Amino acid sequence: MDQSLPHHKWTKMIALMDMNAFFASIEQKDYPWWRGRPVAVTNGKIGTGIITCSYEARAFGVHTGMRLVEARKLCPQLIQAPARPYRYAEVSRSIMHSLENITPDLEIFSVDEAFLDLSHCQRLYHYDPWQIGKLIKQVVFDISGLLCSVGLSGDRSTAKWAAKQMKPNGLTIIKPELAEQALAEVSVTDLCGVNKGIGRFLAQYGVYRCADMKHIPISVLGQRFGNPGKRIWLMAQGKDPEVINGHVCEAKTLGHGKVIPPNTTKGQTILLYLMHMAEKVAARLRLNQLQAQVFSIAFKTINGWQKTRSRTISCTDDGKQIFKLCKFFFQQKWQGEGVFQVHVAALDPRPASGQQDFFIKDDQDRQNLHQMIDKINHRYGEFTLCNAPLLNRSSMPNVIAPAWKPDGHRNTLEH
Ligand SMILES: [Mg+2]
Repeated sequence: MDQSLPHHKWTKMIALMDMNAFFASIEQKDYPWWRGRPVAVTNGKIGTGIITCSYEARAFGVHTGMRLVEARKLCPQLIQAPARPYRYAEVSRSIMHSLENITPDLEIFSVDEAFLDLSHCQRLYHYDPWQIGKLIKQVVFDISGLLCSVGLSGDRSTAKWAAKQMKPNGLTIIKPELAEQALAEVSVTDLCGVNKGIGRFLAQYGVYRCADMKHIPISVLGQRFGNPGKRIWLMAQGKDPEVINGHVCEAKTLGHGKVIPPNTTKGQTILLYLMHMAEKVAARLRLNQLQAQVFSIAFKTINGWQKTRSRTISCTDDGKQIFKLCKFFFQQKWQGEGVFQVHVAALDPRPASGQQDFFIKDDQDRQNLHQMIDKINHRYGEFTLCNAPLLNRSSMPNVIAPAWKPDGHRNTLEH
């Protein structure tokens, strides 16, 4: 794109900020002697699968989702770094907070990605998307010392795609009026949220590249997939109508979501993920000395999100109590369809002290147990100690894994 042309106001300006090899970069930042060396982050010392790895490791062909044994064959000098989820969350939080100084219209998309709606602050930056893109990267670097890639365009989906084009440390700008053209040759399944199932459906209509989408009416997708389907039709033409959903970064909720293996239909497995999320929310409440009584529970199927708000009898920070709500809701609402994501959040958490409901007998034993578990997990990695069923969560990383994508692109070097 020619930077010398005068700039004009865009109807909408959306950026996606994506941290580069986020967890591995934090390890290299905190342990300088690991800089410039191949580092793989695993779930504790015992983890056998790679959650993510540094660019130096990627140069050897090591990638997310690979077994450590396999990776060592490619790269014998690979350094294993046990994941430190609390540290990653801390860095993530500070980055997200500093981005709020650029625009309050911020959506935290994952632990290392955020959408920024810049539509209303273009004048501040002289309508110059390059200036804004560089500012985002600078703000992230100043607070964390880490690099990110930024994509900027007139809609969410194009911005997300743009951010993937240059890594690490990239800045890709696609003018809204050129978005359709930029995406024309892109495979539809390369767009975020278009999974292989949808890809197969579209292939039946001869739609492989984004440019092919115009040849089928929007109703084909609408009838099969509802509103998400209509959105995909528009996304392929650089006209994603989805807005930036700012409310998720409100401080008043404390939640955990996870993209699970796409189209999971085994009830036990889905419940296990919900239990995992419930325990994570509980652990974070305890870490922050908070309790909550209202929880938001959600799971996403091909038909969209199923959500509820449920209450426990009294304020709690106990994962078992939270999971009970999850289980009840799931058993009521789930009809066997494939599930793609789960989410559990504590709404309006309050300081734990002095808020005890005196009708409920304070279970001191249970509190002592929690304190001990938290201490050990904090020191040795999350879920070193946990409920027995969670021990079976094979290949379930203990942080929102950057690798799990709804479209199943687990092997791309996206992070
Ligand atoms: Mg990333």
